[in-house]
Amino acid sequence: MKKHLERITAINPGRIQWCCHDQGITPPELAEIIGIAQSNFTRMMTGEIGITFNQLRKIADYFNRGVLFFLEQGPVDTVQVYTPQFRTLANQKSHLSTKVKAIIERVERQRDIYLSLREEVAEVEEFKFEPLDLGSFYHRVLDALLKRLDAEGKDFAATDDGELITLLREEIEKLTKKDSFISNFVSRRGYNEFIIDSAGRVLEDCVMAIAQMVRTGSFRPKFSEVSFGKAGDTHDTLGKYELVLADKRVLSLDGKIDRLDYAVVGDEKIALVFDYKRRDTSFSWSEFSHGLDMQLPIYMLAVRNAADPGTKNVAGAFYMPIEVSPRKTTLGELLERSDNFEYKAKGVFNGKFYRQLDGGTDSGWSRFYSFRVTSKDRQYGNYAISGALKPNDFEGLLRFAEQKMIQLAQEIVSGKIDVSPYRLGQVSPCSYCNYRPVCRFDWQVNDYNFLESLSKSRVLERVEVVDG
Ligand code: SF4
Repeated sequence: MKKHLERITAINPGRIQWCCHDQGITPPELAEIIGIAQSNFTRMMTGEIGITFNQLRKIADYFNRGVLFFLEQGPVDTVQVYTPQFRTLANQKSHLSTKVKAIIERVERQRDIYLSLREEVAEVEEFKFEPLDLGSFYHRVLDALLKRLDAEGKDFAATDDGELITLLREEIEKLTKKDSFISNFVSRRGYNEFIIDSAGRVLEDCVMAIAQMVRTGSFRPKFSEVSFGKAGDTHDTLGKYELVLADKRVLSLDGKIDRLDYAVVGDEKIALVFDYKRRDTSFSWSEFSHGLDMQLPIYMLAVRNAADPGTKNVAGAFYMPIEVSPRKTTLGELLERSDNFEYKAKGVFNGKFYRQLDGGTDSGWSRFYSFRVTSKDRQYGNYAISGALKPNDFEGLLRFAEQKMIQLAQEIVSGKIDVSPYRLGQVSPCSYCNYRPVCRFDWQVNDYNFLESLSKSRVLERVEVVDG
């Protein structure tokens, strides 16, 4: 106790002065707040006398600093003291009260602890209510079916529906027995068996839809789960797909295409890309133009540019739904709807191949693909919303996609990683980002990178401008 009454003389008055200035108070005001006589305080500031430990601690508490801060010699290191959290966007020191600063410092300390813990633990696994990944189950079964048909030398289009369903059921059974996770899943509860049975029926409908599609055109499934780049563990590969950046760095792209169909047109082999989606999915022109929806163009470019593609001609790429939910309908509409095809593939393609896609549509919307034939515009009817592209536009789209990838890669390697999440309509990546708990982006304080929503025709105008 006596010790605390001893006077400490090794105080750095320059630091007390600095803190007073920082807080916008004068030393006499501080003396009054702390309860030190003005004369003693002035003498302490000139180094004439010391102050007690309790008085020093009061000063330290007031400025929300440690006692040692005022015993250290030398001037204040402002870089250390003013962390980015204490600066405004213009990199200026903000005027915050001591209490607010104390809260920010505490939050920062907790955040540092959290980050150091995150480095030690693996990615937090999110709890999911669905123990079986149905999307992966669908993909594996469809892959197995196509490989089986290929191994037995059977043409998908020429195999009758009954045989297709038999083969599909056999492949489902094989996978269910072979895969220990799925077999455990099925044996655990009757309800799980029901899930697999339902998934099987979903696949039966989907395979029947694929059969109708391939029978109406000339394209036939050739590869299933074919990779490019370093995406390993596949039976077939198109080889490397690399792009050279301006500084001679090489951008290497990896991926796996769900299904690649071939047709022979004249003497040439033409490829058509399919990507299975659980639900109905459309190609988004807006997202494409901003480099957000690049999957289909990248797949087409991989076919065209990979080292060993089998053919460099690509007709187009489509998303195809696997699960189709029944729509609301009235009894009167039921008969009309019975002819509806709910698995329509949506994507983009070179319109000159429309006959190879769907040889049965001479007028109106194709039942199977997103294009319309009219007497005036032929296969380019309703061009603004159709997936068909005139050959020049199709080539422009692919060039634009390639340039966009190069531009994005160059921005990343040059260090452009601003915390500036996009917002397109109501959509922003923050809503599903894993880093949200530690991210400092706050929509109430910071601005989103607002992206313009664009129609197909506006994007094609941009494509033309880029092409120059
Ligand atoms: S939460 Fe943060 S890290 Fe995640 S997308 Fe938004 S800004 Fe980026």
